Amino acid sequence: MNDVITKDTHAQKSWDLTELLPDATEETISARLAEMESLVRSIEAFRIPLQEEPSGKLLLEVVETYERLSERSSSTSAYGALWFSEDTQSEAALTYKSHLDRALVDFHNRTLFFTLWWKGLDDKAALELLPTRPEHADFRHFLEDLRRSKPFMLEERSEQIVNLKDTNGISAVLTIYSMLTNRLEFELEVDGETKALTRDELLTYVYAPSAEVRAAAYREMLRVFGDEAKVLSQIYVSRALDWHAENVTLRGFPSAISVRNMDNDMPDQVIEVLLDTCARNAPLFQRYFRWKAQELGRTRLSRFDLYAPLAGADKSIPYSEAVELVLSTFEGFEPRLAALARRVFDQDHIDSEVRTGKKGGAFCATVLPKQTPWLLLNYNGKVRDVATLAHELGHAVHSMLAQDHSVLTQQPSLPLAETASVFAERLLVDRLLANETDPAVRRELLASSLDDIYATVMRQACFVRFEERAHAAILEGKPPEALNEIYLGLLKEHFGDAVEVPEEFSREWVSIPHIYHTPFYCYAYSFGQLLVLALYRRYREEGQAFVPGYLRLLAWGGGARPAEILDEAGVDLNDPSFWQGGFDVVEDLIVELEAL
Ligand SMILES: [Zn+2]
Repeated sequence: MNDVITKDTHAQKSWDLTELLPDATEETISARLAEMESLVRSIEAFRIPLQEEPSGKLLLEVVETYERLSERSSSTSAYGALWFSEDTQSEAALTYKSHLDRALVDFHNRTLFFTLWWKGLDDKAALELLPTRPEHADFRHFLEDLRRSKPFMLEERSEQIVNLKDTNGISAVLTIYSMLTNRLEFELEVDGETKALTRDELLTYVYAPSAEVRAAAYREMLRVFGDEAKVLSQIYVSRALDWHAENVTLRGFPSAISVRNMDNDMPDQVIEVLLDTCARNAPLFQRYFRWKAQELGRTRLSRFDLYAPLAGADKSIPYSEAVELVLSTFEGFEPRLAALARRVFDQDHIDSEVRTGKKGGAFCATVLPKQTPWLLLNYNGKVRDVATLAHELGHAVHSMLAQDHSVLTQQPSLPLAETASVFAERLLVDRLLANETDPAVRRELLASSLDDIYATVMRQACFVRFEERAHAAILEGKPPEALNEIYLGLLKEHFGDAVEVPEEFSREWVSIPHIYHTPFYCYAYSFGQLLVLALYRRYREEGQAFVPGYLRLLAWGGGARPAEILDEAGVDLNDPSFWQGGFDVVEDLIVELEAL
C-alpha cells in the first residue's frame, strides 16, 4: 500500500462520490448505461449456445461478463443510493435513482435466463460444468450458491413479472416509507428550550442523565410515530402479505422466516436454537435490570430508564478525537487494520454530519472489492457514537480484507456480516476499560456495555419473534391494532417483573425500519454479537495467537458458506453450548459489575 498522510483533524462533512460516477449529468449517465447495455447484449448472445452446446469454457465466459456487468451496476446504483441517503428530500437524487432502478430491472430481466438456466440443470450436468481451477474458486462458490435457491425458483416469465411488479410495487411502497419517516420532525424541551430534532437526534436523549428528559424523548418518538401509525402499519401489512404471497404461496418456502434463513445460508434449526437460547437467557438481563434499578434508587426499573447512564456523566467527545481513539484501538490489535481504516478518511468516504433530510442511523456501503467502502454516520459526540464509528469502520475493514474476492462473492452472508463490526466495538470498550481506574467510571462503562449487548442480542431477537407472530396475525386477517398487543405481550415476557413497560410502548414496533425493509434481518445482530463474544473470549485467552485465524475468517468475505468459514475457525453452530458461551461472557460482566 502507498504511504498515505492522515489528516490531523477530521472535519465532519459530506463524502466524495466521484469515484463511483464523475457526475450525474445526462451525458455521463447515458454513457454508463450504454456500456452496461453492451455487456447485457454480450450475455444475451450466450443464450442459445448455452442451451445447445454448454461447456465449462462457455460457462466461464458468461460468468466473467456477468461479473463485469455486476461491477458496473453496483457502482452506478450505489451512487444513487448514497446520494439519496445524504439527502432523502433531493428531487434530483430521486429522479436518478428511479431512472437507474428501471434500467437495472430491464438489464436484470434480460440476463435472468442465465441464472435460471444454471439453476434448471440437474445436479450431474451442473457438476460437470463447474470451474475447478483454484483461481476460479470465487466463480465456483458463486455458481454453487445460486443453486441453493433452486427448489424455490419459478419459471423465467414469472420471475420477470415478479421483478417488474416489485419495482413499482413493494419497492416503491418502501421508498415512500423512507420518505415519510425520514422527514418526521420531533420536538423536545431541553433546559427550558424547545428543540426541533430528527429521530436520531431525539433518540440520543433516551441516554440522557435526566429521567424526565428520557421519558419525554420516548413519549415524543411514540407520539409522532403514533400519529403516522395508521399509514405505517398499513405499509407493514402490505409488506407482510406480499412477502407471504410471493415466498410461501408461490415459491413454496416452509415459513416466512425460512426465506431469510435460506438467503443467509443458515438452516432453520440453527436460527431456532439461537432465538430460543436468547429467550431462555432473558432472566440474566432481568438480573442486570434489577441491579440497575437499585443503582438508580428505584424499586423497579421503568422501560423509559432502560438506557439511563449511571454516573450522571454526559461526556461529549469531539469527532476528531473519536476518530483518533478508534484508529489507535485498531492499531493496538493489528496495525494492518488501522492502515485500512485510515483509507476511509484519507479518501473522503465518510459522511458523519447530522442534517435534516439525511438518512438516519449509520451504515457502511461496500461497492467494489478494490474500492474503499463508504460510511454514513450521524455523529453527535456521545460515547456510543464513538462505538458506532468503530462498528462501521469494522465493516469497512472486513470488506477491505476480502478485497481479493470477486464482486460476486466479496460480501459476507448476513450472519457473518456483523463479525468485524461488533468485534471492533468490543475492542474499543476494552480499551476504554483498560485505561480507567475510577470505579464509578468503570461501572458506567460496564453497564453501558451491557446496555449495548442487551440492545444487540435480546432486543433484536425479540423483534424477530415479533415479526413471526405479526406475519401470522396479518395472514389471519387480524387488524393492525392486534400487532400492538402482540408487541406488548412479547415485551412483558421478555422483561418479566424486572422492568415496568408503559402501555404506550405497544406501538413502538411501527418505528423499526428493518422489519419493513428487510424482514427477519434483526437476528443477524444477535447472531453476530454472540459469535463475537465467544470469539473475543478466545482472543483474551490466546492473545496474539488468535489474530491470524481471525483475519483469515474475515478475509473469506462471502467466498465460502458461512458454516464452512466458521468450521475452519473452530465454531460448531449446531452445538447449543456455543451460543450459551456468549451469554457466559455476559454473566461475567454482570458479576464484575455487582462486585464493584
Ligand atoms: Zn453493522
